[in-house]
Amino acid sequence: MNEYDSNRIYDLAKKINYEKTDSLDEADCYVLNTCHIREKATDKVYHDIGRVKKNFRNKKKPIVIITGCVAQAEGDILLMKDSYIDAVIGPQSSHNFNETIIKIENKKKKLNFTNFDVVEKFDTLNSVKNSCNGISSFLTIQEGCDKFCKFCVVPYTRGAEYSRSLNEIVKECKNLVDNGSVEVTLLGQNVNAYNFNGKRISDLVYELSKINHLKRIRYTTSHPVDFTKDLVIAHSQIDKLMPLIHLPIQSGSNNILEKMNRKHSIEEYFEVINQLLEVNSLIKFSSDFIIGYPGETDRDFEETLKLLKKIKYINSYSYIFSPRPGTPSAKMKIIDNSVSKRRLTRFQKLADEIKLKYKRSLINKQSKVLFENKTKEKNEFFGRDEFNNSVIVKSDRNLIGKIEKVKILKGNQNSLFGEIYTDTENKVHAA
Ligand code: SF4
Repeated sequence: MNEYDSNRIYDLAKKINYEKTDSLDEADCYVLNTCHIREKATDKVYHDIGRVKKNFRNKKKPIVIITGCVAQAEGDILLMKDSYIDAVIGPQSSHNFNETIIKIENKKKKLNFTNFDVVEKFDTLNSVKNSCNGISSFLTIQEGCDKFCKFCVVPYTRGAEYSRSLNEIVKECKNLVDNGSVEVTLLGQNVNAYNFNGKRISDLVYELSKINHLKRIRYTTSHPVDFTKDLVIAHSQIDKLMPLIHLPIQSGSNNILEKMNRKHSIEEYFEVINQLLEVNSLIKFSSDFIIGYPGETDRDFEETLKLLKKIKYINSYSYIFSPRPGTPSAKMKIIDNSVSKRRLTRFQKLADEIKLKYKRSLINKQSKVLFENKTKEKNEFFGRDEFNNSVIVKSDRNLIGKIEKVKILKGNQNSLFGEIYTDTENKVHAA
């Protein structure tokens, strides 16, 4: 979502004649769009500001603005602690970006925009064209979260659930397709909680699937509780909806799910998975895991391993629990770090084995790949299959923006390598 937000901030800034630069030394304004999910996010901000200071030593200081969730969570503290920072803008106040710049240019005092003005934000952004021109684009449809998992900062940094207007999303998607997008990933902290005047994410996906040159639709991140039947059915009816679903579970133990306030049991989670597999047996899953959550016993952890083996996630993102200031779990007793580390190692070893086995199962099979760009190698193209696996092939033809049938020849943890087939299945080139 931060990538989408950064692009939208840039779209806004263009209106007051700012341009993007890759050269840090040239920047008149430095925007650090931050994420508060990972540990030490605030330290990273100070570290990055330090780099800017070094680059601009003996030069005119650039305008420095911190945006995103660290700005929201630490606003005044950042401004107080580092005089080099000119302004902080929270994620739901990003529409104030241009006003902030103009005020700073006019030597106004330090600015803190951290109100939750999400309606006003999207009203402003809807009138600014999304200039993103990637083959695969992000599109925010929903923000915020009302779930209040005990470990998570999102309800405090992004605020309450808010869904954008369906028509505005369709309009922005058409614009992205006009810019060259073939695939769109719908974004939301709780994306399947989307509800705009009773229209759910399934309604939105049906609408988007009517856009002619849009070939692929993905969405992330879903909550099991909001996985309603209509969305399950959409997976059986809409070919453009890709068959990889990111469905965070965090732990395989009901005891821990309850402690986390995840609002569902393992059994209810399986129910969603089974419903999806019933309508489309090809669907695969990825998930997020927190290892060593306060109170996690050996038995709870074994339950998590059992779940991993059962679902065979083709991708899993796992981290040792680390407390986020201001969240209820920050006050809970942390378990011994060496225990958490040992568990994480075991978890990741098993997850890697499952992933590698899955990747190997694709060898000699055909997959449909949407090519996004060229690699640094000559005549080599990078794309993704329907399950978001990275695929690399060689071709004399320009493949960017095309969906091609590819025979997978080999693979490792990160990438698959293949060759393109023509319609008659004649080999064109091998990687
Ligand atoms: S559902 Fe997701 S975004 Fe919402 S509080 Fe839980 S982890 Fe955070």
